[in-house]
Amino acid sequence: MNKIKIAFFDTKPYDKKSFDEENTNFNFDISYFDSKLTGQTVSLTHGFDVVCAFVNDTLSSGVLEALKQNGIKLIAMRCAGYNNVDLKKAYKNVHVVRVPAYSPYAVAEHAVAMMLTLNRKTHKAYSRTRDNNFSINGFLGFDMHGKTAGIIGTGKIGQKIMSILNGFGMEVLAYDKFPKNDLEKSLDFEYTELASLYLQSDIISLHCPLNAETRHIISKKSIEKMKDGVMIINTSRGGLIDTQALLDNLKTGKIGAAGLDVYEEESDYFFEDFSSQILTDDVLARLLTFPNVLITSHQAFFTKEALGNIAETTLHNIKDYFEKDKLPNEICYRCDSDSCLKEKLGRCF
Ligand code: NAD
Repeated sequence: MNKIKIAFFDTKPYDKKSFDEENTNFNFDISYFDSKLTGQTVSLTHGFDVVCAFVNDTLSSGVLEALKQNGIKLIAMRCAGYNNVDLKKAYKNVHVVRVPAYSPYAVAEHAVAMMLTLNRKTHKAYSRTRDNNFSINGFLGFDMHGKTAGIIGTGKIGQKIMSILNGFGMEVLAYDKFPKNDLEKSLDFEYTELASLYLQSDIISLHCPLNAETRHIISKKSIEKMKDGVMIINTSRGGLIDTQALLDNLKTGKIGAAGLDVYEEESDYFFEDFSSQILTDDVLARLLTFPNVLITSHQAFFTKEALGNIAETTLHNIKDYFEKDKLPNEICYRCDSDSCLKEKLGRCF
């Protein structure tokens, strides 16, 4: 049998390293493309069986149609989120699998790193002391102990962050559209409505998926309900925050600090080096001027353990597609409803 051919998009050196290592157990024929998958680059997929894509690849209706025409049978997302895939268009045209969890610890720990950095200004202290400046003016922080954290989304990552913040002695409140009430006792937090979470929280951290309902969950209106000086952390997806509203409220001081590992318009910039170029995104450029804003470039997942798990699960998903009836990590637009066929068929269609 011919080797299964995989077109791998948006490749970085660390992807190639982890997938090449893991592929010694699978023996797939992987071609690594530096470019992102877009309407322009989709022609590269001709002759392949599988496309392996990441968070900023474009899997719009038009791209999916072209993939189908090119004979692609499977899209293997090497990430958990799939907001960039037109799942309605994919249904019955091409199967889509993902990596539902690769290290909730990695993302939760990064979110906490952002909180600590913004609170205690260690990023600024690092530069200051290297310049022989040992003044601590401007570095005043607050005890996290005794403060209230509001967690939106109590899934795999939300649960890990709640455990960490409990360890700091914070009061933890949470909101989830689908609350898991049995968790409240074991993880020592309290579910509450969004309005009350906004009203009480000193730090708000987002851990829900991006979809039509959660887009701009942090908006002008919701910010109005928050405490003055609130810290907002987003390691989920940029579209959860209305960035203009965030900017406006950073300017007035209503928002005291923001830690952003994701950004609405990140696909043009994140993961790339623009250090010798002019930023044309005025909103991103403005955000970068605030001393109380910390932006990282979608790196919350980026640990050795997570990269290994991503490669292993992605290649297993591909093997399952070709060798087994059941595809446990398949996703479709019906997965959130009772009409999804996965339980009955083992696959979504
Ligand atoms: P998960 O599916 O385990 O948990 C998501 C939680 O959000 C669930 O409990 C779900 O019930 C809840 N939810 C769904 N709709 C909601 C709504 N309207 N309001 C509030 N809560 C809602 O997912 P996870 O593994 O914890 O990941 C969370 C998010 O983190 C992902 O969607 C992904 O976008 C993001 N992520 C980011 C990185 C990164 O590197 N920055 C890495 C992995 C995941």
